[in-house]
Amino acid sequence: MKKVAVVGGGISGLATAYEIDKRLRAAGGHCELRLFEAEARVGGKIGAARRDGFLCEAGPNGFLDSKPSTLNLCRELGIEDQLLRSRDAAARRFIFSRGELHQLPGSPPAFFRSRLLSLPARLRMVAELWAPVSPPGSDPTVAEFGRRRLGREAAARLLDPMVAGVFAGDPERLSLGSCFPRIAELERDYRSLIRALLALQLKRGRRSGGGPAGPGGTLTSFAGGLSVLPDTLAQALADRVACAAPLTAMERTAQGYRLYLGPDRQTYDCDVAVLALQAADAVAPLQSLDTRLAGVLEQFEYAPVAVVGLGFEQAALQTRLDGFGFLVPGEERRRILGSLWTSSIFAHRAPDGCVLLRTLIGGARNPELALLPEAQLIELARTELRQILGIAAEPVFVQVFQWPRAICQYTVGHRERLQQVEARLSALPGVFLTGNSYRGVALNDCTQNAVRTADAVTSYLAAAG
Ligand SMILES: Cc1cc2nc3c(=O)[nH]c(=O)nc-3n(C[C@H](O)[C@H](O)[C@H](O)COP(=O)(O)OP(=O)(O)OC[C@H]3O[C@@H](n4cnc5c(N)ncnc54)[C@H](O)[C@@H]3O)c2cc1C
Repeated sequence: MKKVAVVGGGISGLATAYEIDKRLRAAGGHCELRLFEAEARVGGKIGAARRDGFLCEAGPNGFLDSKPSTLNLCRELGIEDQLLRSRDAAARRFIFSRGELHQLPGSPPAFFRSRLLSLPARLRMVAELWAPVSPPGSDPTVAEFGRRRLGREAAARLLDPMVAGVFAGDPERLSLGSCFPRIAELERDYRSLIRALLALQLKRGRRSGGGPAGPGGTLTSFAGGLSVLPDTLAQALADRVACAAPLTAMERTAQGYRLYLGPDRQTYDCDVAVLALQAADAVAPLQSLDTRLAGVLEQFEYAPVAVVGLGFEQAALQTRLDGFGFLVPGEERRRILGSLWTSSIFAHRAPDGCVLLRTLIGGARNPELALLPEAQLIELARTELRQILGIAAEPVFVQVFQWPRAICQYTVGHRERLQQVEARLSALPGVFLTGNSYRGVALNDCTQNAVRTADAVTSYLAAAG
């Protein structure tokens, strides 16, 4: 009987194991499947603190409904009825610039009225229509692309906070093509982003403008928090999931691979090993199989992020937090990346009469801040919220999460590093790598890559007989 091991119980590993299992069952094959997770619980970056009526997510707070992979998974798992769409208020997103919050304009007239950019910078954006296109085969940074196409000010006040919001990253180092492949594609195909947007709007008829969470779709979660998804996947896989079983080393055998798990070095022999780990966590186990592959994976960088959840009684605040929250451009030199107004985005996140904010600290901009002791992080978040939003009240709920390796940074050269990884893997038949270090960090990317990896695994097993 063939044996398949999936290592890592974050959304990538769980979804990949589920998809493989589904294909094996459909083929009527007799294969054994196991998932090994290092921690005592599954979910990886997905998790939450639930206390006193507050539900504070540790990492992601939702996925966009504009791509089908995660929604499809929810439908198959029978948890579609638990899905929770963000409130209409979440369409209002803000940028903190020069001492005030500016609402992100949602239409061209609103853009020209907005004071987020100076008038010359707004006019400069029109010149995007004629800006030089990235040379074929080049790998521009997000910042260089932004300055060339949109102008210096728009790059600093629009693109920079967007990069902070998605990658907690440094736009001067991140690769446009690896981080935002769709934008690179639109530039290539239409030679202008404005032209691309107009053409796509025409194609979609007048259905432009997007859902409540903006043009990318509607942010979606579950009434019970995002953990509903990994928990349901783990239930579907049942006793094939082993927690507290970290992979420490791998070795080649005549049939496939031997995995060493946990401190007592239990072994599991398998034909296929899917490592759904951050690249950095795959380095040590792969070292004994292929030092050069481990060496490439060691080059992947991560930005640390701290999430500080603060709950307040609404009556104690002077402001109504009515919107998605705000992001801060790097040029502001503040100590936070932004703040998400969680209870305004989703229902069921704070008890009646209370609000919940999640403030993000660190990233590639200020990595050292993300790793400060908890008490200092809370003080820092409260000071910034007092200065930016005027919130001086005592919080009634406090929760800190720290991720030393929160999000993989797809810096320039990521594409070439992926090619090197692929080349090394071709000499290790039956070993597959997936997860957010490679081809997209969003939950939708993770679930889409799970489908691709499962297809590759089943083709491999079919070819191997
Ligand atoms: C603060 C924050 C906010 C985010 N917000 C959003 C958002 O709103 N929307 C969105 O789409 N995305 C968001 N993301 C990104 C998204 O959460 C991640 O990309 C995604 O959850 C990664 O899933 P994964 O399974 O690839 O990795 P992980 O969740 O990191 O899972 C990897 C798993 O492997 C396990 N592991 C590690 N080493 C071993 C080993 N040796 N043996 C066995 N197991 C091991 C780990 O314990 C972990 O469970 C956010 C990320 C962060 C950090």
